Amino acid sequence: MQTTAPAKMLPTTAEVVVLGGGLAGAGAACVLAKAGREVLLLEREAAATHKICGEFLSAETHGYLRRLGLNLDALGGHPISHLRLVHGRKIVATALPFSGLGLSRYRLDEALLDHASQSGASLWRGQRAGVSEIDGSVDLEVQSAGTVSADTLFLATGKHDLRELRRNPETPPEDLVGFKMHFEVDSAQLRALAHHVELILFAHGYAGLQRVEDGRVNLCLLADRSWLKACGGNWPDLLEELLRTCPHLQRRLAGAIPLLPQPLSIFRVPYGFVYDPPADKPGNIYRLGDQVGVISSFSGDGMGIALHSGLLAASHYLHGLDAGHYHRRIRHDIASQIWRTGLLYRASRWPPGRQLLMGWTGLMPRSLRLAARQTRVPHAAVRQVMQLMP
Ligand SMILES: Cc1cc2nc3c(=O)[nH]c(=O)nc-3n(C[C@H](O)[C@H](O)[C@H](O)COP(=O)(O)OP(=O)(O)OC[C@H]3O[C@@H](n4cnc5c(N)ncnc54)[C@H](O)[C@@H]3O)c2cc1C
Repeated sequence: MQTTAPAKMLPTTAEVVVLGGGLAGAGAACVLAKAGREVLLLEREAAATHKICGEFLSAETHGYLRRLGLNLDALGGHPISHLRLVHGRKIVATALPFSGLGLSRYRLDEALLDHASQSGASLWRGQRAGVSEIDGSVDLEVQSAGTVSADTLFLATGKHDLRELRRNPETPPEDLVGFKMHFEVDSAQLRALAHHVELILFAHGYAGLQRVEDGRVNLCLLADRSWLKACGGNWPDLLEELLRTCPHLQRRLAGAIPLLPQPLSIFRVPYGFVYDPPADKPGNIYRLGDQVGVISSFSGDGMGIALHSGLLAASHYLHGLDAGHYHRRIRHDIASQIWRTGLLYRASRWPPGRQLLMGWTGLMPRSLRLAARQTRVPHAAVRQVMQLMP
């Protein structure tokens, strides 16, 4: 006789709900579940998806992932040890002050979600949720699955505002547009890209080019929206214009085959945002990742901040420290970094600034080490989280 497994029911209550299963949310869920807490992790996407990202994992990012017990070596990322900064026909190359990794978000986010589930978090996929009531406990309305009442909410829904829990302060988004595409490039270009991340500066923005797993190459760029319009308002025309004006990129992508059906795009990113909790905010809502701070993509450390905040929030919660305490701590750890990276990015938008960056990077690896120190989560803060984690 054939029996049907009973449909899984959404619990009506939970100690902690983590809303959003990106790196911040999944990372926090791993820590809480491993400590034996009852965690419900809700992720909008039903299956692995590509995300717009340069896909450069900094040393802090892979340090945190390893600390969570994720077997990164099994994911097949491409090790990155050098930077090439490109402006027109000028190229300066230097060793990075740390080792990075190129790995797609498609593979990474899925592996971390799976790891959170294996660690004991109750994972619900394909569930977009909204917050319906905040009154001591937090009520979440989960699309077509019902309502769940949580004692504590970890809000990790990424860059854009949740209608019921808007950002504070409101941060006007910059008028930029981002695109990402994976390519198969010819073998000579693939060899030339080995162990390098290339940062290509141009008048209307910048692009990052690097290898990820399986010999794929990721191109991710950020440019003025007005330039997109001037190019015809679509990706093929923008790419054509970019290749026409950037000989280096033209060489790298000559004959390249796009590997995604269409590019991923993003706009209205609130770069520079750092959460400032209003005095009357409840102590049971912890904001993580891009919900607590959005660093310019230029730094290549947004994922590091996402994991740092997720692990810090989970450790605070486990030590009985409320959201107010956590928000003061995370602000202390990331606010100056976000501000300095914004300055560096703005310098790159100004022609003499671009020349200066080229000269400075070429001068000595020490200047890069200094810039890296000023624009990433401080070592002492990372060490502290590692110690706080159970
Ligand atoms: C153009 C660009 C390039 C970048 N390049 C890099 C880089 O090279 N290196 C780097 O370290 N960082 C980079 N970043 C930054 C990095 O991508 C982010 O900082 C990081 O992804 C933030 O992680 P998160 O977990 O906060 O958010 P996300 O990764 O966005 O995850 C949020 C999750 O929440 C889910 N979600 C959203 N709303 C709901 C809802 N209502 N209910 C349920 N689930 C929901 C989403 O599906 C998603 O999975 C880049 C960013 C941009 C824009």
